[in-house]
Amino acid sequence: KDEVKIITGALELSKKTVKNIMTELKDVYMLDYDVILDFNTISEIMKTGYTRIPIFENDRTNICALLNIKDLAFIDPDDKTPLKTVCKFYNHPVNFVFEDAHLDVMLEEFKKGRFHLSFVQRVNSEGTGDPFYETIGVVTLEDIIEEIIQAE
Ligand code: ATP
Ligand code: ATP
Repeated sequence: KDEVKIITGALELSKKTVKNIMTELKDVYMLDYDVILDFNTISEIMKTGYTRIPIFENDRTNICALLNIKDLAFIDPDDKTPLKTVCKFYNHPVNFVFEDAHLDVMLEEFKKGRFHLSFVQRVNSEGTGDPFYETIGVVTLEDIIEEIIQAE
């Protein structure tokens, strides 16, 4: 029965972590902060179908902004606007969550309504240097809803 599945899914939320359900960083469509919003770039963005696009500087793990496709509404491809300009203008907040955060907690955060995508971080203590926070993926409200409705 669907109801049982959904209730079970909801109850399981506290047992799973964002790491279990995130989209891994290697699979995330992102843009370089230095890109120019010409016709080719805007077409590419539109073709992906994603609403929220992480922006990185130098390295993909170094997230510096978030672009919403709505931000492109007034952009004329012929103006060759730097992505940087658009990011600075809208300056959407970028949210981070620790990899072992539980899904019920994450859902409460999303329900507050300020953001629907969060970057997942872990502490990298491999190597000889000091441990540092490393971005490893993204999680969205949609990912949590999928967990609720697909549970066996
Ligand atoms: P919306 O449904 O609000 O228009 P969307 O379709 O862009 O947004 P979501 O519905 O939030 O994205 O998420 C759908 C799936 O895509 C989720 O698994 C999410 O982790 C993943 N996702 C979201 N943004 C990206 C992105 N930029 N690159 C790769 N995967 C993404
Ligand atoms: P997104 O969050 O993906 O940018 P959005 O903010 O346009 O999308 P939703 O988050 O899907 O919209 O919905 C927020 C609330 O606004 C919901 O209660 C929804 O029913 C309502 N809503 C969405 N589109 C419209 C609209 N065109 N007119 C009035 N209410 C709307």
